[in-house]
Amino acid sequence: MNGSISICDKNRLEQLKKEVESARDSFLGYPVSKDFDYSELYDFLKFPINNLGDPFEDSTYKVQTHEMEREIVTFFAKLFRANPTDYWGYVTNGGSESNLYGLYLAREMYPKAMVYYSESTHYSVRKNIHLLNIPSIVIRSNENGEIDYEDFENTVRFNRHKPAIVLTTFGTTMKEAKDDVSKIKGILKKLAIHNHYIHCDAALSGAYGPFLRPYVPFDFADGADSISISGHKFIGSPIPSGVLITKRSYRDKISKGISYIGSLDTTITGSRNGHSPLFLWYAIKKLGLEGLRKRYEHSVEIAQYCKARLNEAGVAAWTNPGAITVVFPKTSSKIKSKWQLATEEDVTHIICMPNVTKVQIDAFMDDVVNCVEDEEEEVEFSF
Ligand SMILES: *Cc1c(COP(=O)(O)O)cnc(C)c1O
Repeated sequence: MNGSISICDKNRLEQLKKEVESARDSFLGYPVSKDFDYSELYDFLKFPINNLGDPFEDSTYKVQTHEMEREIVTFFAKLFRANPTDYWGYVTNGGSESNLYGLYLAREMYPKAMVYYSESTHYSVRKNIHLLNIPSIVIRSNENGEIDYEDFENTVRFNRHKPAIVLTTFGTTMKEAKDDVSKIKGILKKLAIHNHYIHCDAALSGAYGPFLRPYVPFDFADGADSISISGHKFIGSPIPSGVLITKRSYRDKISKGISYIGSLDTTITGSRNGHSPLFLWYAIKKLGLEGLRKRYEHSVEIAQYCKARLNEAGVAAWTNPGAITVVFPKTSSKIKSKWQLATEEDVTHIICMPNVTKVQIDAFMDDVVNCVEDEEEEVEFSF
């Protein structure tokens, strides 16, 4: 590529950098960690890395990071207590693709199945079910965002003649509620539905799931068949990414060899981001298990602090047990927009990702305490 961009375009880049920087520094509402430093990896941006093909197979394209990708998969397989001789996975473009893959595997195994998921499930799931054209039923969720086990049992009982695919969530989007995989498994067993598959969407909370106290069953030992997590949420990455972990024996059922790439076509996309596995690998190496635990402990402490400060100010804030998300009634639009808080129906939340500090919570609280409630705009017809 020869040539250079104009002064005017250079200024636009400078301007954009400032905007992105200031937007980054004042958000508390989305589950994205911002405290990473990947500068040691910047040189790799010079290479056309592409991880196409199955990371566990050889491929003819060698400008890739499959080895790091495999290490990430192994790290999380171990963390999620997978069978050491029967696990597989890959680094995806994010939680949505990981969920799509879990549902795809499930449908390939049980083409006549019914999918069950709660109303608190992430929006990607409904779309994925539509893409895969699988019949589905939405289950009620409780006030805390967790699936209503009784409604689940009653609904599945009516459809006992069909295999069941259950999509559980480990950390729902708004309230960070966690569905108990072993309870779901127990209900399926009680109803004698042997043909079943459980995909656990752990995009938000998977990376700290094993440290949660009280522990909520969600992993392979608890009965999950596949688990998805995000790379850019709790861990943090400049590029969105996710990880999908499942059983190797399931992958073997769907793999087809592709001679053009000299590998197996076991992933959703052909070309795949080879830089994001590098970021994740680097983060895991730097943090280790203890580092992840410390990040989680810090987040819980900040969440408890945030909840207490809101309660002191008379705001009815609460958290699910062990959660890093503080839920409270919808706040004024000024505060919502300044702190980029997501709102759904009548609740909003702050997600205390590892980069959030008490100082930031204090600044937020200053706004809450000093905010003059803006007048609800009354829209009226005038005649
Ligand atoms: C963020 C999230 C997703 C989607 O992940 P993307 O990386 O945005 O595709 C899915 N499920 C849950 C529970 C999430 O929190």
